[in-house]
Amino acid sequence: MHSDSPKKNPEEKNVGVYICHCGGNISDHVDVTQLAKNIETIDGVSVTHTNMFMCSDPGQELIQEDIKNGKINRVVVASCAPSLHELTFRGAIKRAQMNPYLYEHANIREQVSWVHHGETATEKATSLVAAAIAKAKNLEPLDPVRVDAHNHATVIGAGMAGMRAALDVARRGIDVTLLEKSAYLGGRTAQLTRLVPTDETAENIITPLAEAVCRNPRITVLTGTEVAGFEGYVGNFKLSLKQAPPTANDGNAPGTYVPFAGYLPPAPSAADDGGVIETGVIIFATGFKPYEPQENEFGYLTQPEVMTLPDFIRQIAENPATGKTLKIQGRDIRRIAFIHCVGSRQIPGIHEPGPGANLNEYCSRTCCSAILRAAVEIRRNHPDTHVLDYYRDIRTYGRGQEAYYDRAAEQNVLFFRFEPDTPPVIERSSGKYPLKIRVKDTLTFGEELTAEVDLVVLAVGMEAQPIGDLVEMMKLPTGMDGFLQEVHPKLRPVEVANNGVLLAGTCQAPFDVSEACAAAQAAAVKTATLLAKGYVELDPYVAEVDPERCSGNGLCQKVCPVTGAIQIDRAADGRATVNPALCTGCGICAAECPDHAIDIKGWTLQQYEDMVDAIIAA
Ligand SMILES: Cc1cc2nc3c(=O)[nH]c(=O)nc-3n(C[C@H](O)[C@H](O)[C@H](O)COP(=O)(O)OP(=O)(O)OC[C@H]3O[C@@H](n4cnc5c(N)ncnc54)[C@H](O)[C@@H]3O)c2cc1C
Repeated sequence: MHSDSPKKNPEEKNVGVYICHCGGNISDHVDVTQLAKNIETIDGVSVTHTNMFMCSDPGQELIQEDIKNGKINRVVVASCAPSLHELTFRGAIKRAQMNPYLYEHANIREQVSWVHHGETATEKATSLVAAAIAKAKNLEPLDPVRVDAHNHATVIGAGMAGMRAALDVARRGIDVTLLEKSAYLGGRTAQLTRLVPTDETAENIITPLAEAVCRNPRITVLTGTEVAGFEGYVGNFKLSLKQAPPTANDGNAPGTYVPFAGYLPPAPSAADDGGVIETGVIIFATGFKPYEPQENEFGYLTQPEVMTLPDFIRQIAENPATGKTLKIQGRDIRRIAFIHCVGSRQIPGIHEPGPGANLNEYCSRTCCSAILRAAVEIRRNHPDTHVLDYYRDIRTYGRGQEAYYDRAAEQNVLFFRFEPDTPPVIERSSGKYPLKIRVKDTLTFGEELTAEVDLVVLAVGMEAQPIGDLVEMMKLPTGMDGFLQEVHPKLRPVEVANNGVLLAGTCQAPFDVSEACAAAQAAAVKTATLLAKGYVELDPYVAEVDPERCSGNGLCQKVCPVTGAIQIDRAADGRATVNPALCTGCGICAAECPDHAIDIKGWTLQQYEDMVDAIIAA
């Protein structure tokens, strides 16, 4: 479908509308030919095109040709969600020498073809495109907000992800401060013995990376240090630091045995109270904490022979691999039982919420392989110790990890499978073993099987690190699960909504070490992209005050969620001013102002009214 018109008067608002089939994703449900017909008569529309894939090069060229030929000076694209291709089309418009903000996007895939069918779909698409046209007619050229940026990044947390991120950022010529609250580098990885999938020791993985970090002249490592205060915006953050208190439940807390405490920096340094860093980007690498089972959950805390997997890993590290029978705390372990999914994949109505009142409904990803690796090691080093494995499902995902399951089966690890609502029951035994486990085993079609054991090990999952103080201070988004929330899991996986704050590793979700490091590398690249030019360009959709209308009542400042984004200088004219680098364009001030003195550039109240009118009229 193609309607066309000759070259237009540049003063007029001439809108080109480009409708995408999305390879059938849209056109299987929306009649795009009819849609183009419906909107081509709308006042101000100069050109309409449909295309199988508007985001393809030929699709983008259609837009560019119309701009270059002077047929249009506003663009509306009707396609998938703007989060996917808004930047693609802005880029195309910019390359055709037109201001990229003279562009509006109508989402007719997620908001229409994926949820409506038949005539309703075409009608709704017509309304949305009509609204976009109405808005586009009132778009004005805008320039991005440009702010100078410090050539410096701060990484919070020096586990594997934090160290990887710090090193990769420094190697791109950017100074880095790496903050770690404990005395050591290496994080929770240091509390493991050998790692899936390579069987390397944690020490061998951590030490070379930590040494490279400490040797790098661009990296300042501050151990025993936490963030106490935060202000500023991308390119220009200010962080005040404080001495971290000793952490009682960390594996590397004094008095706790750990196989390898972590890497102790050669000249451990700590910030004085009141130290301040000026930094361009903040990378969160604060990691996770293991799930703490509730009292009597599978006998935890009520039966001394029940422990968590991280505790068990520490215990076996104390026992050199001698003796046909494994020894733990001086006791012969003739039979050991592992239980999967403790504190992971919890189901409402079956599992009890923890102290935070929420359930961990996710899979913690690393526990199945970690159990199977431990089981294989026990069977290999202590052939007289029998291993019983109680699982709901086994998920040894990732390259080389299924081999642990095969090896465990070959080495006669005995598997039992249970349903979530009939988990194994742990009781004291009066027989030859201290504990017995009863389970309704689905591998034997629901038979109730009882086994006696010396030790039960609970494969606890990962939970979000308790960093509520930082989340509150920096107003960071978190998911229902408490982990920090990225903007988009596929398209912007290491960014949060706060510009200049990035994510690396298990502060975001359960990851194994390779995934944590991959995320860290992505965050490092993103840091370099943000800081490379010495300045940062931000979207211009920020609040703008009309001084003629502003009465200085201060309501806008009161409701603004970002400290410092709106100022009222009582000593000067008493009117509101906006710091465009801090303003997020949320629009709360515009909604609150009784004088109608504030608007968001590119999203004015007038544009909203025009859109509503267009929807009603369509
Ligand atoms: C039982 C178990 C077995 C596992 N086995 C394997 C395995 O075999 N193979 C594998 O690949 N992965 C395994 N994992 C996963 C592995 O532990 C994680 O992938 C890895 O630790 C993630 O690293 P990280 O840097 O994201 O977080 P962490 O290791 O948690 O490091 C975070 C760091 O940030 C610091 N920190 C936290 N808050 C602050 C703050 N406010 N200020 C300053 N510093 C802070 C912490 O002290 C810590 O040093 C296992 C996990 C568990 C629980």
